[in-house]
Amino acid sequence: MKGLLDQRFENGGFILTKLEDLINWARLSSMFPMTFGIACCAIEFMSTGTTAYDMERFGMAPRASPRQTDVMIVAGTVTFKMAERIKRLYEQMAEPRYVVSMGSCSNCGGPYWQHGYHVVKGVDRIIPVDVYVPGCPPRPEALIGGFLKLQEKIRNESLVAPKAVEKLLAKEENVVV
Ligand code: SF4
Repeated sequence: MKGLLDQRFENGGFILTKLEDLINWARLSSMFPMTFGIACCAIEFMSTGTTAYDMERFGMAPRASPRQTDVMIVAGTVTFKMAERIKRLYEQMAEPRYVVSMGSCSNCGGPYWQHGYHVVKGVDRIIPVDVYVPGCPPRPEALIGGFLKLQEKIRNESLVAPKAVEKLLAKEENVVV
């Protein structure tokens, strides 16, 4: 490779990289989160989209339809009544899709952990979660930290075994014969 291209591009202007790195860079730089909130954490999510924090500088452009999104930010208290709707929205999203659990309620039930008979004790009981953001509520800076973690995860993903296949293999590994 070096012999073939050596000295041919004297003015620079090109880089060598792996196709996998290039595709992952494109994917992590153009994530479409769903505009979707279920309780007070959603206010912080909305703040993250304002000019003061500007989530679009990370290539994140919120979309209103689950069919046009690949990131779900679960911002708020997941009640049993909402759980079925959240699962349906998740299933309507484009693959590969990712979930950020924002705040204590979504992570583990939050202040309703002990006596909240109506609250699911963690959204990961109904859908898979990729990144957890702690706090009640987490500040926009913390949510941005969650986005960066998610980008890091996508950057290291293998295209040979995409997320859906990896999940399937993990499930098979957990099967007790
Ligand atoms: S974690 Fe706190 S701020 Fe967020 S939805 Fe629950 S009670 Fe509200």
